[in-house]
Amino acid sequence: MNLEKNLQKLYTKLKNDLSGDISTSIPALALQDPDLFAISAATVDGQIINIGDTSEELTIQSISKAFTYGLALEQNGNDFIEAKVGMEPTGEDFDSVIKLDDQNRPFNPMVNSGAIVVTGMINALKEKSREEEIIKYLSAFAGRELTIDNQTYESEKKNGHKNWAIAHLLRHFKILSKDFSEDLDLYFRQCSLKLNCTDLALMGATLANKGINPKTKEKCIERNNLRNVLSVLFTCGMYNYSGEWVFDIGLPAKSGISGGVLMVIPGLMSIAVYSPRLDKRGNSVRGIKVCEEISEIYKLHMLDYAGPSNVSEIL
Ligand code: GLU
Repeated sequence: MNLEKNLQKLYTKLKNDLSGDISTSIPALALQDPDLFAISAATVDGQIINIGDTSEELTIQSISKAFTYGLALEQNGNDFIEAKVGMEPTGEDFDSVIKLDDQNRPFNPMVNSGAIVVTGMINALKEKSREEEIIKYLSAFAGRELTIDNQTYESEKKNGHKNWAIAHLLRHFKILSKDFSEDLDLYFRQCSLKLNCTDLALMGATLANKGINPKTKEKCIERNNLRNVLSVLFTCGMYNYSGEWVFDIGLPAKSGISGGVLMVIPGLMSIAVYSPRLDKRGNSVRGIKVCEEISEIYKLHMLDYAGPSNVSEIL
């Protein structure tokens, strides 16, 4: 079932697809080379396939939300989080200002309002600051030390007016506390973590591998928490395309406005794509196409799974 050959074919086919535009929501993102294109696959036994610009770095942006949500679950437990953040898709833009559900909660942890609240729940432990906890946690999934891109962080902080508005409203509704600007700052920092496409694939493979990093063998997340993360990615991971995504592709995934898409095939592997040109909902155009075709070729839709039962069948 030669995965590498199929990914290579897709790469060649989509290389000249220059549809979509890069995000200009903050100046730092507008500096990206729009035509970069990388595909990485990482299997649950730690094999990696890299095609294209896989060592180019991007900032993780919204893909970080999946992992910070995981950390918040690990630190606080689900009940604590569920009391403050729901799990319904909104059908609205991820940064819309601001919609709360009938229990006065942001709709889910993947829209900005929910993600800022979740980041606000991260605690400093032992000798580490909250920021260090987040960096350490995401780095464990990637299997190497990640760092923050300061230019992007500064750009988010200075120009992220909608996020400031959301945070002020969360404070107004007393969902965030009086120190809300610290929570927002932490959120900007987590979005500014830089990594490459291979790192992203390994982060996804850790989710696919029962929470154990296939390279370092570190256990990164407990089973119940992993289930919660994957469930939210299944229903809310792809902005307001999430319903169609589940319908067509049927796998948990998360995208970010820098052009990353991370798709998880539990028990098997993950596919990561970096291609900065976005469609009107904020998803990477080529990212969606790669995932769509891989799901189709290998029959991976989770509600109609007829795909490989182990790694040796896909390589
Ligand atoms: N830092 C971006 C924001 O909060 C992340 C958006 C995204 O990737 O969806 O607006």
